[in-house]
Amino acid sequence: MLEPLKTLRDIFQDAADLKAAKDLLELIVDRVQQSMAADVCSIYLLEPDSAELALVATRGLDQQSVGQVRLRVGSGLVGYIAQHQSLLNVDNASEHPKFRYFPETREERYAAFLGVPIISFRKLIGVIAVQKEDASYFSDEQEAFVITIAAQLAGPLSQWVHAEDVKTFLAQPDVPIESNLKFQGVKGAVGMAIGRVRWLLSTYELASVPDRLATDPDAELEKFTRALNLAKEELRNSGRRMEGSLPKDVLALFSVYKMILEDRELSSETEQFIRDGWSAATGLRKTVEAHARVFAKMDDPYLQAKADDIRHIGNRVYANMQGDDGTDSLQITEPTILAGKDISITDIAQFPPKYLAGIVCTSGSSLSHIAILANALGIPAVMGIGDINPSQIDHTEAVIDGYRAVVIFNPVPNLRKEYRRLARQEAKFIQGLDGLRDLPAETPDGFRIKLYANTGLVADISPGLMRGAEGVGLYRSEIPFMLHESFPSEDEQVQIYRKILEAYAPNPVHMRTLDIGGDKNLPYFSFSEENPFLGWRGIRFTLDNTSIFLSQIRAMLRASEGLDNLKILLPMVSHLDEVKAFHGLLDEAMLQMREAGIQVQRPQVGAMIEVPSAMVMLRDIAKIADFVSIGSNDFTQYILAVDRNNPKVSDLYNWLNPAVIRSIGHVVQSAQKYDLPVSVCGEMAADPAAVILLLGMGVEMLSLSAYNLPKTKLVIRTITQERAAELWTKAKRKSDEHRIRRMLEKELDLMGLGGLIRAGAS
Ligand code: PEP
Ligand code: MG
Repeated sequence: MLEPLKTLRDIFQDAADLKAAKDLLELIVDRVQQSMAADVCSIYLLEPDSAELALVATRGLDQQSVGQVRLRVGSGLVGYIAQHQSLLNVDNASEHPKFRYFPETREERYAAFLGVPIISFRKLIGVIAVQKEDASYFSDEQEAFVITIAAQLAGPLSQWVHAEDVKTFLAQPDVPIESNLKFQGVKGAVGMAIGRVRWLLSTYELASVPDRLATDPDAELEKFTRALNLAKEELRNSGRRMEGSLPKDVLALFSVYKMILEDRELSSETEQFIRDGWSAATGLRKTVEAHARVFAKMDDPYLQAKADDIRHIGNRVYANMQGDDGTDSLQITEPTILAGKDISITDIAQFPPKYLAGIVCTSGSSLSHIAILANALGIPAVMGIGDINPSQIDHTEAVIDGYRAVVIFNPVPNLRKEYRRLARQEAKFIQGLDGLRDLPAETPDGFRIKLYANTGLVADISPGLMRGAEGVGLYRSEIPFMLHESFPSEDEQVQIYRKILEAYAPNPVHMRTLDIGGDKNLPYFSFSEENPFLGWRGIRFTLDNTSIFLSQIRAMLRASEGLDNLKILLPMVSHLDEVKAFHGLLDEAMLQMREAGIQVQRPQVGAMIEVPSAMVMLRDIAKIADFVSIGSNDFTQYILAVDRNNPKVSDLYNWLNPAVIRSIGHVVQSAQKYDLPVSVCGEMAADPAAVILLLGMGVEMLSLSAYNLPKTKLVIRTITQERAAELWTKAKRKSDEHRIRRMLEKELDLMGLGGLIRAGAS
């Protein structure tokens, strides 16, 4: 009986000892051929550039033919399987109309042929084929065996042998197995970087330390004290180092860590455990666990969150005990990519900013603290790449493509070269765009767009202004809340909001009310839900927490005194009543302003269009809102039912999807009909191809991250609105997102803006 899972287990076990990719492929063909008692097993990999399949390993065919046999997709039996992406089982291959003979393989002896496509996440990677002399079909069981093997190997194969590198692989068959480990994550911060990976010490898990006794308590005590002192020093240094580059709101996070480290109980209790005979690591774990447990049990969500901070600090001290005392990081002299499971702010701060090239996190999402920080510092970051073995990637070279949320560890030379070229091209492009700052965002045929910045950090103010933003189209007010240790007081909020309003006055600032829930959690008010994206999110949350909401509205109003450039934007509106209820609260807040003698104009109120129900109800929304803004990030997510943060479905998440663009077109058209100003404020407005469509629809306001403003402006200043409208009409008729993108990218090429796409602006 064939045992596919056992064969796979054996393959994976033996693969651990192998060094070269070639050996791994040979191991696979060897095991499959043996298990099936077939005469031949071969693997062909696809090179998408040339649409050719190359024979990369075989057991049974002539070894000389490896690398020599190449078939176009559609040609020969293997090409036929690739084209149709389905299995082929024939008893006499040479009689099949698609059969093509390759003399170098000497395969004329083999009659029966079974081939199965290797597909990972809908992408064809290659084909695995078995052959035998006997002219009889392979059995159902044998079919099932090869299907299982192909399905299970598709993921690992796609990770280390990149289709685009099959050529390189064939030219250098000894390329190490760890080469080209490619991971798809979710966007943290845009940009491209190449650097050496440093796996973060803080990912040492104190919780996994076993109960271990020690023979020399004095030595253990010394070890603990040294590690603790080092952690304190690191924190002091990092705070100092980051002072110039981080805003106060972000820096405040350091003080929490400092307080925990200075806590006398942390050291005295650990020391007691060590004196009782436990090792330093065990003693520390017992102390940290005890304190974390106490906090975790508390009702107050703010205090609950302290449990995580304590664990974080524990990991840090433990990492220092491991001999990795953190000081080597200060000796970094080359561009470095920080990688880790749960990177904290102190981790980032350890590194000299000029060498911090990029950030890779195995967990987290685009709204994690670390992603927010990376954006503020302008460092490319990819989040949520999933589990990875640190020893496999530590100290390797890696490239980060923050636009596509892809990381490749240990890239083969040609890929590295290509990314270097892209990074240079990107830098050149960005430099070249500086001159656009003071030019209007207007098409050559006179269609004027208002170009606003998306922001949330005080640190973002100047990048937006520097790049010529004409206001803030989306101020994500949850960001200061996320960076705080507890709900910021009303006065604190006033100060933060005032800075933004003042910086942009008299231009408008669209302040969005607190949008938490889904992937945006407040550390001090965490709650868990089965389905958070459909749960207590955005305005649903704030309407249920009236005092928090009223205090935020009051803070916004107070901050706008004398400036009157405030507009309020409501997130995740899915019911009309939500907008009505907000007006009630705004009335109340205005009344309180009057009573307090604060003179402010009643701000305009807008609704985010992020969910299908808001799109459908636009006519009614138009009666009670002053404007709307399409949040294309969530809108795409909810129209397509595709999680915007899940790398497994990231291929399906596409704002050029026909359903998405037609829906956006519908919103824009209806808004125009009801005289309702409409803007687009999600990432879509930073995608040059999508910008053409938005122009074509007649959208007059776009809001995007400061970093991408010049690129979008360049598109606007290059294409006429008339041409954009033609392309929009064509795009509307297409039913395939890839065709839509191809058409738009061709246009960008014709406009001489192809570099914008290749610099990764999508
Ligand atoms: C959006 O959903 O497009 C949006 C702008 O809001 P956020 O990304 O903050 O959810
Ligand atoms: Mg949103």
